[in-house]
Amino acid sequence: MRTGIGYDVHRLVAGRKLVLGGTEIPYDKGLLGHSDADVLVHAVCDALLGAAGLGDIGLHFPDTDPKYKDISSLTLLTQTSAMIRKKGLTILNIDTIIFAEAPKIGPYRKNMQENLAAAVNVDPDCVNIKATTTEGLGIIGKGEGIGAMCVVLVDYRSRKMLEK
Ligand SMILES: [Zn+2]
Repeated sequence: MRTGIGYDVHRLVAGRKLVLGGTEIPYDKGLLGHSDADVLVHAVCDALLGAAGLGDIGLHFPDTDPKYKDISSLTLLTQTSAMIRKKGLTILNIDTIIFAEAPKIGPYRKNMQENLAAAVNVDPDCVNIKATTTEGLGIIGKGEGIGAMCVVLVDYRSRKMLEK
């Protein structure tokens, strides 16, 4: 078995859609980035790449590449999941935390869970989404950005693949 960790923060700005976990959330600001800036999905991609020993999201999907401009990060997650499977790994568990002072994440949690599970082709039961504020402290507490963390557990599909 192998674990991976992912962490990401994006700046909140006016005039952008807020997309978290592939779900568009009505809010007066959105996250700034080259893609749709889905901070939660980026943390999941990085955790999966880490578990597979495949570097990080910037290596595979550089933000200088026009191909990834405004792309749905769920597409990047699906591509990441394909890389994981190509290495003979299967995803057992994805656990996440969103750090946001606002908006409230609760009403969208189930939808995000289903989006992530569908993107990596696992049962929604293997995906967990938590959300917390930072009690008004720091850049996230002041509403200047949203952060996310993710830990994943993956395993080789069979011992044979490990021994190869
Ligand atoms: Zn990001």
